[in-house]
Amino acid sequence: MMLSRLFSPLSRSITKTALRTATTSTSAKITIGEQSREVFDREDKYGAHNYHPIPVALAKGEGTVVWDVEGKRYYDFLSAYSAVNQGHCHPRIINALKKQADILTLTSRAFYNNVLGEYEEYVTQLFGYDKVLPMNTGVEGGETATKLARKWGYKKKGIPANQAKQVFAKGNFWGRTLAAISSSTDPESYQGFGPYMPGYILIPYNDLKALDEATKDPTVCAFMVEPIQGEAGVVVPDPGYLQGVREICTKNNVLFIADEVQTGLARTGRRLCVDHDNVRPDIIILGKALSGGMYPVSAVLADDDIMLSIQPGEHGSTYGGNPLGCKVAIEALKVLEEERLAENAEKMGQIMRAELNSLPKNVVKIVRGKGLLNAIVINDKIDAWDVCLRLRDNGLLAKPTHGDKIRFSPPLVITEEQLRESCHIIKKTVMSFT
Ligand SMILES: *Cc1c(COP(=O)(O)O)cnc(C)c1O
Repeated sequence: MMLSRLFSPLSRSITKTALRTATTSTSAKITIGEQSREVFDREDKYGAHNYHPIPVALAKGEGTVVWDVEGKRYYDFLSAYSAVNQGHCHPRIINALKKQADILTLTSRAFYNNVLGEYEEYVTQLFGYDKVLPMNTGVEGGETATKLARKWGYKKKGIPANQAKQVFAKGNFWGRTLAAISSSTDPESYQGFGPYMPGYILIPYNDLKALDEATKDPTVCAFMVEPIQGEAGVVVPDPGYLQGVREICTKNNVLFIADEVQTGLARTGRRLCVDHDNVRPDIIILGKALSGGMYPVSAVLADDDIMLSIQPGEHGSTYGGNPLGCKVAIEALKVLEEERLAENAEKMGQIMRAELNSLPKNVVKIVRGKGLLNAIVINDKIDAWDVCLRLRDNGLLAKPTHGDKIRFSPPLVITEEQLRESCHIIKKTVMSFT
């Protein structure tokens, strides 16, 4: 079964996005400052138009807070899609970066360097896997896991050459390369970029029966899944889903790949999101907060039986495992552990969902999430983009995802006082739509 492409050509959100590019806001009462305007215009003129940012021009960040070029202060409730879990410009990570930058930054893997092994030992022991394969961006992590699963499929499972298939859940997001968008069910991601990667099977998220059916096919090597679907709008599966995934993958001899690029690293209140369910995937993909927002660092963790399927020369990256990235990643992980950020995410998350649940249901239809990865679903009569513009005016930054959803994911260093103040801003904003 191959991917079918039967989706409507233009989603509602694309049309709206295009229309909005020219004007800033219909609802914003504050005027955009001259310096901010210059930033928007220059990016618009010289940069590719592959993003549609909330009109705010940031110049400085510290912990939970960012400032724009005019000096206006905001709470950051996106955290660069959970890359700055440790907070903006964390002094310990900055120090690690500066120190290593003066010594050695890049050797390539043509030679050994004296930092990579230190990082590899630290990260594998922390997460309890035999080996790590270092890459840079999240999507490269997903690509690496996919290649690893195929190799394992041919070498260990005995799948006939070039016939390996991989199962994904609908609504997944794992980046923007061709391999990644080929598994996407979001037309904005894949449309106009074909032909697509063969050998992909899509099943509904949170559906164990469909997983069992799909993975009975002896040519399937892996199921790759997010423990909570972040970009889809923080879709949390039913309790027991991940345990079910583990059991089915084991039974059908298929690798369970957990994409923890967004959910991992304390975001949901545990070191990994799968820790909530006490399951151990065969392959873990990490990225984003692995470097605390300093520098792109991603990683794939697996045991020897899987990892050693790839031999020297068969995969790699010029920057992957560079000493600068390794030092940054060690420090970023130590900050998460030593500042007990998972515990704080758990505690603050409960406060936040209680506050969000008290908002009027005629504006905020649904509240969902775990730890500090949360989202609200806005009533269809109200435009989530307008809500985000008014949040910005009131001093809090968030971005809509898939039309009617707004993700709230502040840095995990947020204090209770900051969180209460942020919830007050959200409440004031939401009330202005009633
Ligand atoms: C962001 C994300 C990725 C891709 O990371 P990039 O660094 O943008 O390539 C992969 N998986 C998930 C779940 C993500 O949220």
